[in-house]
Amino acid sequence: MIVIGGGLAGLAAGVALADAGWRVRLFEQRPFLGGRATSYVLPDGEHVDNCQHVTLGCCTNLEDFYRRVGASDKIRFFDRLLFLDPQGRRGEMKAGALPAPFHFAGSFASFAPLMLPDKLSIARAMLNIIRHAGSSPDLCEGDGLSMLEWLRRRGQTKRAINRFWRVVLVSALDEELGRTDARFGVDVFWKAFLSNSTGYRVGVPVVPLSSLYHGCKEEIERRGGEVVLRSPVRGLKLESGQLAGVRFDENREESADAYIFAIPHTALAELLPESLKRSDPSLAHLDKIKTSPITGVHFWFDRPVLDEPFVTLLDTTTQWIFNKTALYGGSGGDPKRATDSSEGTQYLQLVISASYDLLQKSREEIIDLCLAEVCHALPKARDAQLLKATVIKEAAATFSPEPGVDRWRPGQSTAIPGLFLAGDWTQTGWPATMEGAVRSGYLAAEALLRSSGAPKTFLRRDLAPDGFIQMWLGGKPASQRREF
Ligand SMILES: Cc1cc2nc3c(=O)[nH]c(=O)nc-3n(C[C@H](O)[C@H](O)[C@H](O)COP(=O)(O)OP(=O)(O)OC[C@H]3O[C@@H](n4cnc5c(N)ncnc54)[C@H](O)[C@@H]3O)c2cc1C
Repeated sequence: MIVIGGGLAGLAAGVALADAGWRVRLFEQRPFLGGRATSYVLPDGEHVDNCQHVTLGCCTNLEDFYRRVGASDKIRFFDRLLFLDPQGRRGEMKAGALPAPFHFAGSFASFAPLMLPDKLSIARAMLNIIRHAGSSPDLCEGDGLSMLEWLRRRGQTKRAINRFWRVVLVSALDEELGRTDARFGVDVFWKAFLSNSTGYRVGVPVVPLSSLYHGCKEEIERRGGEVVLRSPVRGLKLESGQLAGVRFDENREESADAYIFAIPHTALAELLPESLKRSDPSLAHLDKIKTSPITGVHFWFDRPVLDEPFVTLLDTTTQWIFNKTALYGGSGGDPKRATDSSEGTQYLQLVISASYDLLQKSREEIIDLCLAEVCHALPKARDAQLLKATVIKEAAATFSPEPGVDRWRPGQSTAIPGLFLAGDWTQTGWPATMEGAVRSGYLAAEALLRSSGAPKTFLRRDLAPDGFIQMWLGGKPASQRREF
């Protein structure tokens, strides 16, 4: 069988099928694996991630994938989130001794950037999510309800929206609240913050992203398969209207009994012939799935300016600051410097999701804006010298989770024999995340095996509810429980 695309979706499908005994041939157009969740070397020799990527404790399939490819020990989990506002107030989120859903009660009560009316309004909305076990009747309204409207209906204060809901959800979903389907927003809080006490833990790679995928090639090759880089698929070969192969440069063709296309929806829309789009109506609307941007800003300072592994800024353009030097154990991502932190420099990476306002700004404008915010938030940066800076704008970083987007997302099976789909944009129930991509790969592998008459399950269940939520859901009839 052939997999096209070596991002997380294609890798997850390929590794799962190899595990099921299939000979997998994976073709990737670029010279490295990992797709959007990868890292590369800049012309000046610096190894940078294509933006910081974080996972959460509730991402059970990504965790399973890392385990399969031997990368679990390259992810470090943190259970404390630190927030800084421009007035210098600090807020901390950390699970306390109380069982879910009250595990944040202590840190929420003392969270300085929010006032009492904000906290009361948030608590009311949280109770609403809990009462409906992560779902509520208005989430199924018409063409989808925006998160902003969902919050307004629940009387959220302006500060609660800007300093709490927006902060968490714009980072998690890469879209503004007014353009986000409330179903995704509510799900983030239910799965990561309310239904259990560990789903919120933030996992950050301690190596450059591309180092996470070394084990994938080995897994696929162990079963006689191959991973071929620098091999863009240029077209599909049809015979009697059926998919009979894929075309590469120089008229090279490859054929197999099944194909998983694990490329972005925009690339697939261009590759698919009109006749195939007509054979399966779910393939005819890929252009309706919009995209949203993320901007990463990389700063190298001549001295340490941040003591924490990462912080979240409130009321600023900059949303997260990651201390890459600390996360890499002092190596700044360069394996040669892994044991040598004596240079004393510090590499920070800033993330700005849904960065529509930055798309038109020049690199210099973005650096000036973010540097001023860093100096305001981190006093040590004011005396430090910025040695160099890089801006990476991803205009189409993820698909936009706008209200009703799910109706345009095709499943992993298609009406075309032998053609399967994977990618964070296919029907996974999840937004555009690494977890969503791995889920799609596992689902595509399951669909392929089902069609071959030898079904196998790869998809992992969601994190089990714990604390009072477990007791409460355990007492409900099965028809009223949500799938976990
Ligand atoms: C800047 C940024 C920050 C992000 N931050 C996070 C985060 O913190 N946490 C999180 O969970 N998610 C994050 N994401 C989202 C996450 O990266 C994606 O959801 C996930 O990586 C998508 O995987 P995929 O395999 O579906 O697609 P992709 O990663 O896009 O993989 C598709 C692959 O197909 C290849 N390809 C395309 N066309 C062809 C062709 N014709 N022939 C052969 N190969 C082809 C591409 O080169 C690519 O390798 C972020 C994304 C970006 C861009």
